[in-house]
Amino acid sequence: MKFNEIKEIEERFYSRAFSRLPVAIEKGIGMYLYDFDGKRYLDMFAGIAVNSLGHSHPKIIKTIERQSKKLMHVSNWLYTLPQLELAEILVRITGMERAFITNSGTEAVESAIKLARKFSDKKEIIAMENSFHGRTLGALSLTWGKKYRKPFEPLLPKMKFVKYNDIDSLKKSITDKTGAVIVEPIQGEAGVIIPDPDYLCNIREITEKRGILLILDEIQTGFGRTGEMFVFQKSKIKPDILCLAKGMGSGFPIGAMLSNGIDFNPGEHGGTFIGNPLACEVSKSVIEVIINENLVENSKRMGKYLKENLDDMGANVRGKGLMIGIDVDNGKEKVLELIDKGVLTIYSRNTVRVLPPLIIEKKHADEFLGAWLNC
Ligand code: PLP
Repeated sequence: MKFNEIKEIEERFYSRAFSRLPVAIEKGIGMYLYDFDGKRYLDMFAGIAVNSLGHSHPKIIKTIERQSKKLMHVSNWLYTLPQLELAEILVRITGMERAFITNSGTEAVESAIKLARKFSDKKEIIAMENSFHGRTLGALSLTWGKKYRKPFEPLLPKMKFVKYNDIDSLKKSITDKTGAVIVEPIQGEAGVIIPDPDYLCNIREITEKRGILLILDEIQTGFGRTGEMFVFQKSKIKPDILCLAKGMGSGFPIGAMLSNGIDFNPGEHGGTFIGNPLACEVSKSVIEVIINENLVENSKRMGKYLKENLDDMGANVRGKGLMIGIDVDNGKEKVLELIDKGVLTIYSRNTVRVLPPLIIEKKHADEFLGAWLNC
């Protein structure tokens, strides 16, 4: 099928909600994606930090085959084991108390907002400037960008924003109506913005002192993306609520909200598809591969290699693990140039975002660096 024919189908039948890059993908294997003409692309953004194990991972294919033959869905009227086993794994690897499974990141944030609202009489939630927490109305109320928010106002009341990586600005904004603070440990959609090393600890200290819930959004940073399993573990703090998704399913839609000391009562929250056995079995396998194949360490090592080499080339680069941002004159132009060279990345304004699968090897990094040097 030709690219223009695919575009025509979109123009006729699909919502205009997306503004896409000019590539249509037919299939993927490992670190590579292939378009309908068979052109090969090195995948350096992993479906926005999602395909942690790359494409068509044999272990995940096997899990999907096995579980889909056994059981895909029964709803939460009934007990299923994969959901509970995944919860146990999540609790063990995060050190949190309880897990609630969701279908996406934005649903994890919605769950967090509901739990915070339920728990605290103080209804105000403070989020950060340039934050991104999702697009459903609750999560959108905590997302900074005007272009995302404006057409849908009024959003949830009592949400306010303070400067990211500015503890004084947070301290000044806290009132006796503040019930929760939500923060990304590294801002992803804003263009890979890394705060000071003690930022999370300082937020935890203030929120604890003032009896305010800390909601940590590790939807993009979690599961090894930054060279740590989770960023908060390096800071040695514990949030009250933790939101996860993206790399957790390596392409299968799933997320989670974990909590400490607070929880829903029966009937207060739910969803038909939430925690279905197929999604949960896939996520269990993804986490197993990430751990058994030391992909967190690989993320740290390959991230360092990419950053050092980009630095040597004179690029304006920053990042942690495989969450890398490179400032350029024109983000979109650079991403289009890289597409011509057979490399896929994304951009936030004038930052090219490099978020490859955690399975990346030196030869793939070198292929990317070669393409970067030549455009
Ligand atoms: N939170 C963060 C930090 C994100 O990066 C994203 C997505 O980019 C979301 C929440 C929303 O997740 P989803 O797109 O799965 O709804």
